[in-house]
Amino acid sequence: MSGVSRRQFNQGLAAVTGGMLATTLPATKAWAQKRAGKGGRVVVIGGGVGGVSVAKIIRQKAPKINVTLVEPRKSYTSCFFSNHYVGGFRSIESLKHSYSAIKSAGIIMVHDYAVSIDHDKKQVLLHGGERLPYDRLVLSPGVSLDYDQIEGYSREAAMVMPHAWQFGEQSRLLRDSLLDMEDGGLVSLVIAKGAENGRSPYAAYERASLIAHYLKSYKPASKLIIFDAKPKFRLQSLYQESWKKYYPGLLEWVSSDTTNGGIMRVDHNTKTLVDGNGQEIKSAVTTIIPKQKAGQIALTAGVTEGDWCPVKPGSFRSALHKDIYVLGDSAQNGNMPRTASAAHSQARVVGNSIIADLANKKRFPARFTNTCWSLLSTNDAIKFGSSFRAGKTEVKLTGSFASTPGEDRAVRQKTYKEAQDWYKTISSDIFSKSNA
Ligand SMILES: Cc1cc2nc3c(=O)[nH]c(=O)nc-3n(C[C@H](O)[C@H](O)[C@H](O)COP(=O)(O)OP(=O)(O)OC[C@H]3O[C@@H](n4cnc5c(N)ncnc54)[C@H](O)[C@@H]3O)c2cc1C
Repeated sequence: MSGVSRRQFNQGLAAVTGGMLATTLPATKAWAQKRAGKGGRVVVIGGGVGGVSVAKIIRQKAPKINVTLVEPRKSYTSCFFSNHYVGGFRSIESLKHSYSAIKSAGIIMVHDYAVSIDHDKKQVLLHGGERLPYDRLVLSPGVSLDYDQIEGYSREAAMVMPHAWQFGEQSRLLRDSLLDMEDGGLVSLVIAKGAENGRSPYAAYERASLIAHYLKSYKPASKLIIFDAKPKFRLQSLYQESWKKYYPGLLEWVSSDTTNGGIMRVDHNTKTLVDGNGQEIKSAVTTIIPKQKAGQIALTAGVTEGDWCPVKPGSFRSALHKDIYVLGDSAQNGNMPRTASAAHSQARVVGNSIIADLANKKRFPARFTNTCWSLLSTNDAIKFGSSFRAGKTEVKLTGSFASTPGEDRAVRQKTYKEAQDWYKTISSDIFSKSNA
């Protein structure tokens, strides 16, 4: 097994597949993939926002390029809007998307797990033993979780204290824990040190709002405490204004100044948390947002520096391997946040760059956007967004906007409606047959 320890491999595999590995590539499809095709071969690892979007763009704009998408799961359950499910605003089924349109778009879908990359032979080694040759490789494997920031937290502990930061099963676990708890219990939302550099930094505070909404509606004697490893957070005044309005006495945010650095240790057997002062807290339900880093395959492939993958800002080509592109959460993307909106926008740049590269077509100047919405209560959402261009060494911010405190009801209701429309549009853009 080149460049990866057995332990790292098993951890990555279990994290991504949840222990359920799908079947490997049928022989006929393997044969189809190995044919170079007139336009060359692109292998994409990761059937999430970034990976599917790139695969579709390349396939639709340059049909001569042979595109293979590697993803172990048989369907995709989005993390974005999973807080809505946790808070009871939508069903888990509404977050689940089939790959059938991807297959019928002419993309070869391989349900397997990429184990390592052979840079010399330009091949991806799959868990099932198959090797996929490529001319250009795209990595969009999301994030891997760094459990080490909080002593006692682990994959096993996450089955009792869910992170709900990857995949549908974890979100389901968190929702079920809330449904099962008795009224009057304490719910703890723990934000680990460094988690703010991971995916969707505002999602932690949206989660707090929507758990509080659930408690207020069904278990009003309960309490939610956010144990933050930071002394302050972005858009704090916006969130705190709404918490005071909707959840007074029910939701409390505790800064790292009070706890001497946040939660340091947990014991999932006794459901106990210990903060930086040594204070013990018994919690009926705990959700922990750990620090994150690039997906395991990116770490294994040697395209990381520190926790993330450095990329060229105009193309998202890896700064370390010229035939590899990295996008989405794994990429070190300058000022861009790690969101579905950003990954989707990066996919257009990566798709166009690869087409320019392989099919000798015009490369467009790289421009990116990101817009995120955060639900606070029924019909009340806020938004924030930014635009970017490729600078010489990093992606540069060119403009930004955000909701402001004190906005009236109609504005917030309109923002909520925009959020619903955005989910519909982006998921159809990614997972339906047309609209690349
Ligand atoms: C609670 C929460 C709420 C969020 N809310 C929002 C929001 O409102 N708006 C927003 O824009 N973003 C939001 N996000 C962030 C968004 O979900 C991510 O930024 C986005 O999914 C990143 O896309 P990606 O392609 O990098 O990774 P993903 O979409 O996670 O896809 C990665 C895929 O790679 C696969 N994979 C991993 N390793 C391998 C391997 N070795 N071989 C094969 N396949 C592999 C995985 O199975 C997975 O399907 C939220 C995130 C969370 C956790």
